[in-house]
Amino acid sequence: MPIYIYRCRECGEKFESFRSIHDNDAEVTCPKCGKKNPERLFAPVFGQISRGGSGNQRFPT
Ligand SMILES: [Zn+2]
Repeated sequence: MPIYIYRCRECGEKFESFRSIHDNDAEVTCPKCGKKNPERLFAPVFGQISRGGSGNQRFPT
């Protein structure tokens, strides 16, 4: 399972969590204050999908 790094939106606590790719970030709870829906800081090494945006040109034509 990939490890995700989260930061609590409420108290700013950073913590790691093992998550299945099927799990929902919104259900992750802060170990410090118990608040749900933290901000995810890291994507797992695999499964990264680059979604458009600028500064990531792959094949210049
Ligand atoms: Zn918290």
